[in-house]
Amino acid sequence: MKSTDAPESANQYRQSESLSQTGIVVFGATGSVGISTLDVVARHPEKFRVVALTAFSQVERMVELCKIHQPEYVVMVDSNAAELLHKALSQTGLSINVLSGPQGLEKVAILPQAEYVMAAIVGAAGLVPTLAAAKAGKRILLANKEALVMSGSIFMNAVRENNAQLLPIDSEHNAIFQCMPALSESEKQANGSLSDLGISRILLTASGGPFRKTALNELDSITPDQACAHPVWSMGRKISVDSATMMNKGLEVIEACWLFETRPEFIQVVIHPQSVIHSMVEYVDGSVLAQLGNPDMRTPIAHALAWPERIESGVDRLNIFDIASLEFEKPDFNRFPCLKLAIEAGEQGGTAPTILNAANEIAVDAFLNGGLSFPGIARVVESTLETMTTTDVDSLETILRVDSEARQVAEESINSIKMRVH
Ligand code: NAD
Ligand code: MG
Repeated sequence: MKSTDAPESANQYRQSESLSQTGIVVFGATGSVGISTLDVVARHPEKFRVVALTAFSQVERMVELCKIHQPEYVVMVDSNAAELLHKALSQTGLSINVLSGPQGLEKVAILPQAEYVMAAIVGAAGLVPTLAAAKAGKRILLANKEALVMSGSIFMNAVRENNAQLLPIDSEHNAIFQCMPALSESEKQANGSLSDLGISRILLTASGGPFRKTALNELDSITPDQACAHPVWSMGRKISVDSATMMNKGLEVIEACWLFETRPEFIQVVIHPQSVIHSMVEYVDGSVLAQLGNPDMRTPIAHALAWPERIESGVDRLNIFDIASLEFEKPDFNRFPCLKLAIEAGEQGGTAPTILNAANEIAVDAFLNGGLSFPGIARVVESTLETMTTTDVDSLETILRVDSEARQVAEESINSIKMRVH
């Protein structure tokens, strides 16, 4: 028997199906987080529909993703890549709008048919399009921590003023979010701070990266491939280097301060090499709540996609009997100077995190291209912070200007290091 509201035709069926699906835009679709996101999305075709995919220049990978996910729009930021993609897609018979440049990213960020935006572009390039999504009131699944670190107050104001939802994808922040009381909007307004919620501390875990035990005098000769060989997580090259220097954890301290409205003093970084506990929240009564799971980004991604519900993510269940032991250590700032620099920049506030982030992006890029040693990354970040004067953050223009100045200062610092070496 046909129910009264059963669809009459295939076309009508597709229409009613698309009404019940949530549209999603995936920024950075060809990257590590982007691919994990599409994996989770593809497990739930009844719930999600891919509206747009974006990448910098990886044409072949994007063609494959288009065949599988059939988005309405694709953005290739590089215009030559956009042309090549357009040609390649015309041979597949798929009808997909190909856009290019940063303006293409901003356009898909605000498409009305997409309620969710996965922000998984690496680095500062993600800021403007993610901000556009916030201004359009989307649910933002935030992986791109650099965007929040460099523009904290501007970004959070845009989220608040436009009733956007911000859900953390970074596994630690997603874990902290899961360990906090679930509050309605009005309860959030009434409880101003973490202390009001009975929270005494956040314990932010870190794997310690591949050089946790390496002799300090061997760090000079570390190669990019060694730095990118993370012991636990498989990630893009930039975040892998950040994990090796622990700049990643420093950026995450600043990220946590914005997301959970707190200060660096409230956050203890804990090295936990097994990466089974993704972070913890300590309460005044002595309770410590932790979120555990296999280290696979599909768990936080599925959590943020489905929140406040839960969906299957494809991640293997954690076998509690296989975990032989869990270790915890205090981080050593001598070994990880980038962590110290980031925490200090977070404490200083204003444009200090913007300068830190820009200098780090330039230094990591130089290291990956063979133009700087591994310990040189911290030196460049430190000298850029020392050279530049920090100011208050009053507008996006200020952020973008400071970001660009810091990049120049960092380049000069790298050149002067090279002159000293040769
Ligand atoms: P990745 O290098 O694997 O992918 C980056 C993506 O961004 C690619 O699709 C690339 O085409 C795109 N991109 C690069 N430069 C661009 C530009 N200038 N303009 C537009 N698009 C550009 O990186 P990833 O490991 O997936 O990380 C993405 C973000 O997520 C980073 O901010 C990282 O810190 C954060 N993150 C990653 C992980 C992880 O497990 N990989 C975990 C937590 C947070
Ligand atoms: Mg993380």
